[in-house]
Amino acid sequence: MHAVGIVAAAGSGLRLGSDRPKALVALAGRPLVRWAVDGLLAGGVAEVIVAVPAGERAAFAAALPAAVRLVDGGATRTASVRAGLAAAGERADAVLVHDAARPLTPPDVIARVLAALAAGVPAVVPVLPVVDTTVVVDVDGVITDAVPRAPLRRVQTPQGFDRQTLVAAYDALPAGAELTDDAAVVRAAGVPVATVAGDERAGKITVAHDLALAELQVQR
Ligand code: C5P
Repeated sequence: MHAVGIVAAAGSGLRLGSDRPKALVALAGRPLVRWAVDGLLAGGVAEVIVAVPAGERAAFAAALPAAVRLVDGGATRTASVRAGLAAAGERADAVLVHDAARPLTPPDVIARVLAALAAGVPAVVPVLPVVDTTVVVDVDGVITDAVPRAPLRRVQTPQGFDRQTLVAAYDALPAGAELTDDAAVVRAAGVPVATVAGDERAGKITVAHDLALAELQVQR
């Protein structure tokens, strides 16, 4: 199986309090995007395409191995993945879409996603259980309902797909549609999405606190 990794790295660093793209922020001296790319390669992906913010190609090229291909991302994550997918050649039979903001995803998670695709599922995502009591609130913040948490899962990346299935799902998506992950794109096309075990270490870096925790994780 020839698997291509697509790393969505075109977001801003605003919520992290950085004036640079978040993917270029350093974790233990290495940019987040470099961690994400190295993790995909260590997990068994053959080649990687990175969607970068417009005008930032030189900075990303300097941060990444020469074999990594760069494409201009878009205004939304959906647009950035679309651009990466368009660059993935027909040679690829599988695609793994990953967030640059999940730098410490263990190679085991990536290997589980690849194994599920090799076993024949068209789409698969890593998930974790929800451990907190989970509720619904109204506009005033008052609890209106409690949600049984046993069937709930938190979804991580990399999310794995049969390439043609993902291409067809993106083609069927209305141009302006904006979904927060790629599993939602294929589900909108009626494709069932399987799950494998995720990992707490694959958490997303959004705010400064997340980066501080990741620094501790690297030191251990
Ligand atoms: O903003 P958030 O952390 O949810 O973004 C998830 C991932 O999607 C990040 O790795 C970010 O770089 C990427 N992204 C993108 N293009 C955008 C917005 C976000 O590639 N326009």
